[in-house]
Amino acid sequence: MALSVANQATTENLNPYEIAQRQIEEAASHLQLPAHVVEFLKKPKRVLSVNFPVKMDDGTVRVFEGFRSQHNDALGPNKGGIRFHPDVTMDEVKALSMWMSFKCGVVGLPYGGGKGGVICDPRKLSKGELERVSRGFMEAIAEIVGPEKDIPAPDVYTTPEIMGWMMDTYSRLRGAFTPGVITGKPLIVGGSKGRNEATARGCVFTIEEAMRQLGKPMQGATVAIQGYGNAGRIAAKLLSEQGCTIVAVSDSGGAIYLPEGLPVDEIGRLKDEKGSVRYFEAANAITNEELLELEVDILIPAALENVITAANASRIKAKIVAEAANGPTTPEADKVLFEKGIVVIPDILANAGGVTVSYFEWVQNLANFYWSEEEVNSKLKVKMTESYGVVSELASKHNVPLRTAAYMVSIQRIAEAMKARGWV
Ligand code: GLU
Repeated sequence: MALSVANQATTENLNPYEIAQRQIEEAASHLQLPAHVVEFLKKPKRVLSVNFPVKMDDGTVRVFEGFRSQHNDALGPNKGGIRFHPDVTMDEVKALSMWMSFKCGVVGLPYGGGKGGVICDPRKLSKGELERVSRGFMEAIAEIVGPEKDIPAPDVYTTPEIMGWMMDTYSRLRGAFTPGVITGKPLIVGGSKGRNEATARGCVFTIEEAMRQLGKPMQGATVAIQGYGNAGRIAAKLLSEQGCTIVAVSDSGGAIYLPEGLPVDEIGRLKDEKGSVRYFEAANAITNEELLELEVDILIPAALENVITAANASRIKAKIVAEAANGPTTPEADKVLFEKGIVVIPDILANAGGVTVSYFEWVQNLANFYWSEEEVNSKLKVKMTESYGVVSELASKHNVPLRTAAYMVSIQRIAEAMKARGWV
């Protein structure tokens, strides 16, 4: 979990698990739910902690630690990505699994929430080591995952290639080709067209809805993007295709700013070649903190948790904050942004496009029948715009932030499923 420098001066609680619990309580306070239902939603049903050995290239053996958290499977099997990051913690993975439950609930997918994490820095592993870590983790969690139990996917620093290896390991253990165990796979082994772009595309659909409600055109809108991984980078491309001006982007190596607009394709190529957007020298170098505080129409946090906090929320000047990342805004910051009239499209809605197309991938795997990219994208658009509509209507009705409304939609669905199954 990355903490921004700005955070260190505050005493705000930045534990993502406790933040997720606060968000649930906040939304539940607007609903008539028995206390035990809320209590149950505040904790994952099951968390598996694993340690597994991996042979390194130099002949030594390293033991890696990982987690898989399964929050609530009332609506269907657990679903959610696997993150490879040196700072992953069990509490973070628990929070991320909770956010997945509410994400699936808000867009109406027949899934519960899951999340996995392995403490490792993939940037410091060779390709062979990365493959062995990936296969080792899948083997360690194989008992609790499966197409009808829990279906992982990519997350921070995990890729389609890694999903391919993990699918292979699971299939070998089962002795049967099982593409439905994991999503975000390469196309050739059961991946879905449009999955790689889905998180960004879904986020753009929600931004379009928010802009439409504010009566602002996409053409000429200014955008700052924090994080240039799968979501940030593709959002930059899709938004610039729509005529938006991408004025600033960043990654862990630094941030760049050019008021006239950045050439996103060129910056993408530079990142592939040299490892960071900061090597684009025609722009001004700024810090990640400065990027967040730019006067833009749309700010997209697309990296890690806790980047908009009590320490910098009052200085955020964007009109819309679209959370492509999971958990980028703290509850304290949420209050400040709401008072300032900034529209925050919450993570569980803004980045739900990824899991939505994962669901389409899983459906295609189970049916063994594959769709065109147009079909995937048009079904995604329907899901995202309809869900945005439901959430924004509820938010205006109760005069609450979109996040609270999104949780309300979702909590209600999960609670109803738990009741229908006789759990509560
Ligand atoms: N890791 C993504 C997320 O946080 C995608 C999960 C999935 O496709 O299952 O939503």
